[in-house]
Parts: sequence; structure tokens; C-alpha cells
Amino acid sequence: MEIPFLENYPRIINGAGTLTRLSGTLMRPETLQAMAQAATMFFDMADLQAWASKVIAAATGAEAGYVTSGAAAGLTLAAAACIARLDVKVMEELPVTNAPHEIIIARPHRNSYDHAFRAAGAKLVEVGWDDRVAGAGIRGPEVWEFEVAITPQTCAIAYVAGALPSFPLNKLVQMAHAHGLPVIVDAAAQLPPASNLRYFIEQGADMVAFSGGKALRGPQSTGILAGRADLIASVALQHLDWDVSLETWSPPPTLIPLDKIRGFPHHGIGRGFKVGKEEIVGLLVALQNYVNQDHVAEVKRWHELLHQIATALDGVKGIQVRLPAEDRSGRVPIAEIVFDEAYLHRSALDISRALVQGTPRVFLSERRVHEGLLLVNPFNLDERGAKVIIERLREVCSS
Ligand SMILES: *Cc1c(COP(=O)(O)O)cnc(C)c1O
Repeated sequence: MEIPFLENYPRIINGAGTLTRLSGTLMRPETLQAMAQAATMFFDMADLQAWASKVIAAATGAEAGYVTSGAAAGLTLAAAACIARLDVKVMEELPVTNAPHEIIIARPHRNSYDHAFRAAGAKLVEVGWDDRVAGAGIRGPEVWEFEVAITPQTCAIAYVAGALPSFPLNKLVQMAHAHGLPVIVDAAAQLPPASNLRYFIEQGADMVAFSGGKALRGPQSTGILAGRADLIASVALQHLDWDVSLETWSPPPTLIPLDKIRGFPHHGIGRGFKVGKEEIVGLLVALQNYVNQDHVAEVKRWHELLHQIATALDGVKGIQVRLPAEDRSGRVPIAEIVFDEAYLHRSALDISRALVQGTPRVFLSERRVHEGLLLVNPFNLDERGAKVIIERLREVCSS
């Protein structure tokens, strides 16, 4: 079928990574096939989520799991679950409730995804400083700072996983559990390494959110929540459309513990985060593929692509490519392209703009552009993409 918009859409070379604004990544053919098959069938959506729970539990080591419409939606649902637990009255009240709804978070962990927690009705309580940033000291937030901030209004603790080393998650979890509080981890972009699927659960986290549309190569609008069965049950109660009568309601017992609830909201706060049957099936196939893929070979391929770019640009005046060391972290290796701004008479931002506005459009990461460099993330690149990056950089830097 010819779709003129798609046929005519300008090609994008994505050397910037699995960014949401650049449409994430590409799905594998098996995932697309599974989605096409699911699209021909009817399902009881609760059955799909019960199946999802099993698949996600097996992949993460958690008790249970759930497919969400992205990791951000997962954080909102996790917050809603920590506030309401299995209390139907509170589910009906959200996002405004007198039930405990404060989530404690380290100040340096706050970011634009705060909206996700607050959308559930959670109030974020900030603790700790990162003295290292200002050079005022050598410490980031510490676990005791969370503990002294706990009040009867606290419902959970949030932890944003990232490269920046901070306090140990397992110590935070120990402290939280001693107070009967769950810990929610935002691990949206923490894959690869694939070992992180299990890592945060192993550290004791109660709810972990991953993005399905980033390294997992699932449908772009999906995410995963992995965690405690009672909290996942709360998520299911507040997310699925339960426009049914109590008399005929027979949800999968592995998803909903009927004996523990006194009713249910027909539509909870998560109703707006609908996940389609195609997305659930696609995400689960993508997850299983991800678990079984050869991660070492993938890292090797990424290094080769970066090496190819560095070799081809060697000797181009005004550009220096710094290759990452080969390590065993399993993370995506990132190359730095350093521009001699004085020699080129333009800044790294000018170069990025020229790349983005050229043909094809080339996106590199601007994460460190103010240091005079652009980053190449090879996750979404193939040989052809790497060649285009080389050609366009040569053109832009010689014009
Ligand atoms: C991408 C990201 C999210 C959101 O994930 P989606 O799947 O796009 O909703 C949340 N937190 C962090 C740190 C992220 O990088």
C-alpha cells in the first residue's frame, strides 16, 4: 500500500539514541508479526495483563508485572498503587485524597518526569543535597535524610536510577521496608545492560518501571512495571476498564485477589493510560526476544560502528573522535566528536543545527554540546547510517 506521507517523509539518521521525540527505536519483524496477529483477535484485557504478569515476572524476577503505556505512565500507576493499595475508596478519590500520599525523593533525582508521580495525586517531598555538583562537599543525599523525613503521610520512596552514583539502593530499601514503605524505581532508560531487568528487583525495589519503546524495541507507547503482586493488583484495578457487574465479574485470580477487595472502581485514575492488545502482545514478544538475544554481539557491533566512524573521520581538520573504552558494563558505548570551534569558526551547536537541517537529517546527542562536542549513540545505527554521519560531518566541517 502506498502512503504518500510515509513515502515522502525525509529520512532521519538517528545517532542520538532511543529518544522519545525521535520515535524511539525500530521494532523487530517478530514483534510486528505478533502485533498483526493480536489485531485479528478479541481478548478479555485482564487475561492479557495476567499473561503479561507471568512473562514480566519471569524476565525480572519480580512477583508480578504489568504492561503500561510507557514508563512515565508506569510511574503514575505505581504512585497510585502506593497511595491506594487495595483500598477502593481511595482509588475512587484519586488524585485528591487524605490517605497518605507523600513520596520522598532525593533532590538531585528530581526531573521532568516528576509530573508522572504528581499526576496520581502524590506530593513529592524533597530531601538531601548533592554537594558534589557545587563543589561544596563530597556527598550526595544519604539514606538517613530519607528516614528523618518519613511522616504518617508518607506512602512511598522514589528512586531514579541513573549513571550518577548516589546512595546504595539496597540500603534505602532496607530502611524503607523497616518503616513498611515501598520503593518505586524509575529505570526507564536503564537498559542495556540486560542484567538491569533483574538488578533493581534484586536490590529489593517494590515497583520498577522500564520503557518498552527504548532498548527493549517494543511498541513505542509501551512500558513495563515489575514488582510486588499486591501493588500490581492495585495497578490493574486502577488501570483496566472494569465496566462490568460484580455478579459476573471473574478477573484472573493471579492478577486480582478477589478475597482482599471490597469492590472496585469501574474506571480508576489510570483509565486514560489505555494499552492496546497489539501493544501488550508486541511488548511481551519484544521482551522475550530481548532476554534471549546475544548482548555481547550487540555491544561488539556498536563498537565496530563507532570505530568505522572514527577511522573515516581521522585526518579531517577540526574534528577529533574519542572512542569509548571497551568494558564489560554491557551499556551502549558512546563516542565523542570534539569540534575545534576556533578552527571551524562555528560551535558544536551550529554543527548540530546544520546536521539536523540537512538531507538526510542527522541527529547526534547534544547532551554535552556546551563542552564543544556531540555524542554518537550507535543503538539505532546501521552501516548505512554510519556512512551518512561520516559524509555529512565531512561536508559540514569543510564548508
Ligand atoms: C524515557 C524516560 C521515562 C519515560 O519513559 P516512557 O516510556 O517514554 O514513558 C521516564 N524516566 C526516565 C529517566 C526516562 O529516561
